[in-house]
Amino acid sequence: MRNLSCRAQRDWLREHACTRLDIDSQACSRIASHLRALQILTFSEKGVVSVFASRSLARAAKNGPERPPAVLANRQQFTLSTSPPETTIDRARRQLQKSFGFTDFRPGQLEIIKPALEGQDVLGVLPTGAGKSLCFQLTALLLEGLTVVVSPLVALMNDQVRALRALGIQATCMHGLLSEQELAHATGLVENGTARLLFVAPERFRSPALRQLLKGRGVSMLTVDEAHCISSWGHDFRLDYRRIPEVARDLQPRIRMALTATATPEVREDIIRTLGLHDPAVFIGNFFRPNLQIEVRRTRSPLGNASIHSGPAPDNAEHVAAIQALLAERQGTGIVYVGTRAQAEHLSKLLEIPCYHAGLERIRRQQTERAFTSGKLRAIVATNAFGMGIDRADVRAVIHARLPTSLEAYYQEIGRGGRDGQTCKCLLLHHPKDEMAVRRLVEGPCFDNDVARSLVGESLGHRLNLYRLHQLS
Ligand code: ADP
Ligand code: MG
Repeated sequence: MRNLSCRAQRDWLREHACTRLDIDSQACSRIASHLRALQILTFSEKGVVSVFASRSLARAAKNGPERPPAVLANRQQFTLSTSPPETTIDRARRQLQKSFGFTDFRPGQLEIIKPALEGQDVLGVLPTGAGKSLCFQLTALLLEGLTVVVSPLVALMNDQVRALRALGIQATCMHGLLSEQELAHATGLVENGTARLLFVAPERFRSPALRQLLKGRGVSMLTVDEAHCISSWGHDFRLDYRRIPEVARDLQPRIRMALTATATPEVREDIIRTLGLHDPAVFIGNFFRPNLQIEVRRTRSPLGNASIHSGPAPDNAEHVAAIQALLAERQGTGIVYVGTRAQAEHLSKLLEIPCYHAGLERIRRQQTERAFTSGKLRAIVATNAFGMGIDRADVRAVIHARLPTSLEAYYQEIGRGGRDGQTCKCLLLHHPKDEMAVRRLVEGPCFDNDVARSLVGESLGHRLNLYRLHQLS
């Protein structure tokens, strides 16, 4: 047999109603006695031991150790592999297709998923819309046990749980807006081991009952989404995020994964230190978004609002005209960012589009968010309270009627445009009187050199020359 050509081997197998199994040598040595007893021929080829077995034995053997072939039953357990062992990447890719129906990973996803699956802590910094959720969702599915995801926004949590359930993945959430009945249901799913992913709002960790529940259940991975919220250096600092480190120490998850779209070197270090990431794999994605067309336009007057003017409300004619022209050109799908609640209210009236800011009632904010995300609302005037968790793919215009407070915040806000890859126009209106804001924009916290270079050099560079902007102010 050893001396036969491949073709001759095939013919021999056909003739003898046999099939060939490639098994690894370890498995072979374990079942060798059975093989000899069965007078099955073996030979070595490129390090793989091939076994020629009758078709019925091969079929049974392929079912693996759970169902050993009758002839081998009650004997030593064995494993058979009919192909080389699957790598972490193969497993991840297979799960990607099976559970999410995507054909390939997006840049950065595998770089975050792979180390986590291999048991390493990870910090992933990927731009908004890059697909960070999938990184922990897919990892959770490939790990044994429960993954706890800390997320800052209820809307974000609900959306993700809904989307995962639609894919047939057992996920649940716990936050302050659930009824007692809903909370009890979620607790049950965690307790009985049904839930693979549990989303929690950080303030839930105040509850000793939840911590007890999680301790009892055992947590394989703790994921902190929007992890920059943990750092007081970050522009979205949340006090409740400071509770997470203590919880992490308590729960002792096998893997910790932190994800964010905005992390300066200070914030990155803060995340690693505060969350106690142990020798983490740090992956920073490419922040260059070629589909964002940035234009900076100097206005003749600064944006005014009714409350700071004792006289008649300013007409902001120049701002209104510029915004209306762009929204009309881009068929109205847009976000207009302003600096204050009063500006939001004022501009909302002038433009006749709804506004969003933290001063509005929660119900109204939720309704507005939902209307915008679902496509019912085509444009909105908003302060920076509007943004995190807003997943609408077709935003075609992001207009800053006033300068944002930092380059980071600006990048985050324009990042909500063009998430479907189509072009989005980003118009920044500014006036020299915004000097203080400009100074913060230019001198405030910035991305590390590489990111800043790619952002300023490639994306912003042609139109938004920060140095020139500084000179203008
Ligand atoms: P982020 O949290 O980074 O802002 P999300 O996790 O909300 O981004 O993902 C943005 C969108 O990208 C979602 O609609 C998601 O379904 C989609 N997405 C994620 N990964 C992939 C992939 N590998 N292939 C195709 N679409 C993906
Ligand atoms: Mg996200």
